[in-house]
Amino acid sequence: MDLNLENVSPQEKAEMERNVFLTTLEQVKAWARSNSLWPMTFGLACCAIEMMGVGSSHYDLDRFGSFFRTSPRHSDVMIVSGTVTKKMAPVLRRLYDQMPEPKYVIAMGSCATAGGPYIKSYAVVKGVDQIVPVDVYIPGCPPNPAALIYGINKLQEKIRYEAKTGKRVTSQ
Ligand code: SF4
Repeated sequence: MDLNLENVSPQEKAEMERNVFLTTLEQVKAWARSNSLWPMTFGLACCAIEMMGVGSSHYDLDRFGSFFRTSPRHSDVMIVSGTVTKKMAPVLRRLYDQMPEPKYVIAMGSCATAGGPYIKSYAVVKGVDQIVPVDVYIPGCPPNPAALIYGINKLQEKIRYEAKTGKRVTSQ
């Protein structure tokens, strides 16, 4: 939004330009939310080992305000890191349902995205987006911790963009 600064002195104008900005409450909430994403401690297969790597001092996910939580009720991000079997699918959905709104899902790796190397198996779900809505897909078998951090950064951007446009975009 443009400010009409015609009737103020040059000093006041400079002061206002330095110290005043306009935004919306939704955008402030999205800024805070996107900088304090709390993923659930939850891993399904080999991709989970790479997910654990982001918590190490080398990758240091904490610098983005993200801390793994041990309860779905304290979490707002589910990182699906591994193969989703048909037996595990209802459990995954129940954990998702226990998370408070607003909540987000990252499909990490080719198994979570589309079944991965087990695409021909009768026992594997061909993409977790058949069970829960997905916000960000990260390809790879496995994606490394840097790729996961990139995916989390993309989720942060998406949250801020959605606050600006008022539209939620997921896979479902
Ligand atoms: S994508 Fe590859 S590394 Fe990840 S869970 Fe599947 S088989 Fe394992």
